[in-house]
Amino acid sequence: DSTIGILGGGQLGRMISIAGRNMGYRFITLDPNPDSPCGQAADQQIISSYSDLKAAKELADSSDVITYEFENVDSNVTSLLEKTSFVPQGSELLQITQNRIHEKSTLHSYNVPVAPFLVIESENDIHKAVDCFGFPYIMKTATGGYDGKGQWIISSMDDIPNAIETWKNAGKDMIIEKFIPFSKELSVIVARNLQGQTKTFPIAENIHINNILHQSIVPARITAEQQEKAEKISLKVAESLQVIGLIAIEMFLTNDGEIIVNELAPRPHNSGHYSMDACITSQFEQHIRAICGLPLGETSLLSPIIMVNILGQHLSEVLNKISRLPPTAKLHLYGKKESVENRKMGHINFLGSTIEQVDQQIKELQIWT
Ligand code: ATP
Ligand code: MG
Ligand code: MG
Repeated sequence: DSTIGILGGGQLGRMISIAGRNMGYRFITLDPNPDSPCGQAADQQIISSYSDLKAAKELADSSDVITYEFENVDSNVTSLLEKTSFVPQGSELLQITQNRIHEKSTLHSYNVPVAPFLVIESENDIHKAVDCFGFPYIMKTATGGYDGKGQWIISSMDDIPNAIETWKNAGKDMIIEKFIPFSKELSVIVARNLQGQTKTFPIAENIHINNILHQSIVPARITAEQQEKAEKISLKVAESLQVIGLIAIEMFLTNDGEIIVNELAPRPHNSGHYSMDACITSQFEQHIRAICGLPLGETSLLSPIIMVNILGQHLSEVLNKISRLPPTAKLHLYGKKESVENRKMGHINFLGSTIEQVDQQIKELQIWT
């Protein structure tokens, strides 16, 4: 009966714990929120900040394996824990993926295609980007961004004074990226275990609304050739980084059929939640297998599926229409008490015989309109 310690208390940790408890593991979690989604599902919780070294040591003392479910846990704490405890994912992967500059430079050094970018070192670089990339371009904070927070689209000369102000006031490193006109956004989750075995999950086609993931459609509506290219790049990323556990790779499929990597997440990913109901092995089980040295499980797709996120503004409508959900729909809720706009409260996996049929079912519910 091994115990797995989880740094972070969100829904990803919750779903790792639920999968792992079915496999006989015990869980202990560290999060400042006493009512966190993961804390509710774990056997034991430590309530403190991620940078509280004493609390992290307490977690380590009770755990056989330590994992993180969130890339903004304190990488200094993780690197200290790593010296005395078993942290198979390691702190280096965390450091790389916490910072877009580090992440993009590392990918570039492995010859993985990324959007052309420049690091802003002076006001002048914001002007220089016009010559380098043309309009529009995107300015992003190097750290701490999610759901499109900490990014600005610069569309014309008129936006430049504001962009300069924003950069000056941010007090954070920032990068500028060329805007990539894409036909689709895709993601691939790769697992790599302690023995170095790798396995990819089926590619998801992701639809965002206001920069927040709305739907993941699987199988993605792309050609076999595009699929092969995306998988090949993803495996290269996982191998080059010597990942242990999961890595999610967000990509753009450009208008000319090229794959460009947007960003990485060293953990289970929202776009992989479909695997809970459409694969023999879910991403959460696979993560546990990978970090515990078990062989990886089968990941082939059992059924077409669309995962739809339930945000705070959708929850009451979902609950009102709960009796109208098709019998092949699987509802997952994260146990969050406060339903706040744009907060991820849960998701529904809609399974069916074709994507068109599933899409029709979702439209008829009129929840996400
Ligand atoms: P997440 O919640 O996935 O962590 P994030 O805040 O880290 O998001 P990104 O994934 O970098 O941000 O960007 C959010 C969205 O903005 C992307 O999914 C994509 O739709 C768009 N986007 C980001 N960078 C570019 C780019 N260089 N060209 C075109 N669109 C982009
Ligand atoms: Mg991100
Ligand atoms: Mg993203």
